[in-house]
Amino acid sequence: MKHVILGNGPTGVVAAETIRKKRPGDEIVIVGDEHERPYSRMAIPYLLEGKIAESGTLLRHDRNHWEKARIGLVEARATAVDGQARTVTLSNGETLAWDTLLLATGSKPVRPPIPGMDLPDVVSCWTLEDARAILSRLRPGARVLQMGAGFIGCIIMEAIATTVGKTGGSLTVVEMGDRMVPRMMTPMASRLIRAWSEKAGVEILTSTRVTGIEVNRPPGGLMSPVAKAKLHPHHVLVSFGDGEKRAFDFVICATGVAPAIDYLKGSGVEIGSLGGIVVSKSLRIGGDKFDEAIMRYLRKQYSLAIGEQTAENLKIMIGTCVPTEEEMTMILKGRDLVQGLPRQIEVSSSCVSMAIGEMVQTLVDGVRNVLELTPPELSADIIDRGIVLTGGGSLLRGLPELISEQTGINCFVAEEPMESVARGTGKALAEIDKLNRLGRSGILATSRKGRKWKS
Ligand SMILES: Cc1cc2nc3c(=O)[nH]c(=O)nc-3n(C[C@H](O)[C@H](O)[C@H](O)COP(=O)(O)OP(=O)(O)OC[C@H]3O[C@@H](n4cnc5c(N)ncnc54)[C@H](O)[C@@H]3O)c2cc1C
Repeated sequence: MKHVILGNGPTGVVAAETIRKKRPGDEIVIVGDEHERPYSRMAIPYLLEGKIAESGTLLRHDRNHWEKARIGLVEARATAVDGQARTVTLSNGETLAWDTLLLATGSKPVRPPIPGMDLPDVVSCWTLEDARAILSRLRPGARVLQMGAGFIGCIIMEAIATTVGKTGGSLTVVEMGDRMVPRMMTPMASRLIRAWSEKAGVEILTSTRVTGIEVNRPPGGLMSPVAKAKLHPHHVLVSFGDGEKRAFDFVICATGVAPAIDYLKGSGVEIGSLGGIVVSKSLRIGGDKFDEAIMRYLRKQYSLAIGEQTAENLKIMIGTCVPTEEEMTMILKGRDLVQGLPRQIEVSSSCVSMAIGEMVQTLVDGVRNVLELTPPELSADIIDRGIVLTGGGSLLRGLPELISEQTGINCFVAEEPMESVARGTGKALAEIDKLNRLGRSGILATSRKGRKWKS
């Protein structure tokens, strides 16, 4: 039996060795598209810090390991898979036949659609080749900008901060979420990471984003190249959301990854689009959660207890999730928690946005998370068609704008959003067979107060 494994990262290598143990007589081939011996990306930060040499990233140090284990290594890119013929086509023109095929091609970095992301001084930090590109730019005194403070971003940040700290350079990290590692860490943990980073000398910018990158051109006029280089040692000029422009030597883009499965297009291997659910995430944050957040906020800030209906009215009348040019206000009546007597206060729209801010950010982070997990070919469709918001919560002022701003993708509200959940449920029930074929055991419906039932 012949086992072909696409991808020579940790998954591919461990799979091959495990198959070898279980099936001593079988043929095993691993295909990898990087011009490297199998290595682990996880070791790249140590390489950047100078703690290990490149050889320290190798998954197996013995050059003869593969021969001894009778595992064939092919250096080529898988370009197509034919599920019927059981073959995989490679970039070197060869076709490999297989009895079993394991897809272990991992992920590849994604870059946001911002002008200038294709400049040579904008680099990812995903492969050994990327690490070499970073190391060659990390000259003494280098000013580095890193986009993204997610999980991988923070690991890279730690390594770069140590290196620039030793060589008199600087590191600025920009994260469009309102805190670091927003999708994995609680606000408290994010604050601790930020405090650690700032103590290590890293400048952290949150709730802002890079809007463009251009080559930092030296001034015209007669000047020797050496003099010009001295005047403008920084290679890129980066524009931020607030209009500020700053010069850096280079930019590291750590804005997420997407599955590297382009070669499956037309393969007969289902990657689930056209009627299927590709990626889904449920956050259980509905309109009533916003109402609860408003009630909590008023209790804490104003010692005022209000009812659910009042909170909902407040949200509908003046609720917003981004600051508006014109501040709206509303008079609220409730019970003073200290005196126990009725009291009325004037509440502004910015007060509501403070109350629901964290929840709104969780929603936006959820959208970003789903986008990050979306296969690249579907991402292209989403960029073309945009994001559609449905349900009553989508009517919250500023929500589509905020999602557009934080994802870089057009976002708009469906027609009659209040009815879309009921209509969608109706359509799903009318086509219940189709829905079941999608692998759902039934429809899970949630009542407004969170009670669940299954059909
Ligand atoms: C800087 C950095 C630090 C990290 N630190 C940590 C950490 O501390 N902890 C942690 O858990 N994770 C960490 N990770 C993530 C971790 O490295 C990955 O989750 C892990 O490498 C996944 O292993 P894999 O074998 O599935 O995929 P990969 O390591 O991505 O390997 C897949 C291989 O397949 C190849 N390939 C892709 N497409 C094709 C194709 N069409 N044909 C042939 N070959 C192809 C790729 O080139 C690659 O060599 C880090 C990642 C980075 C970049």
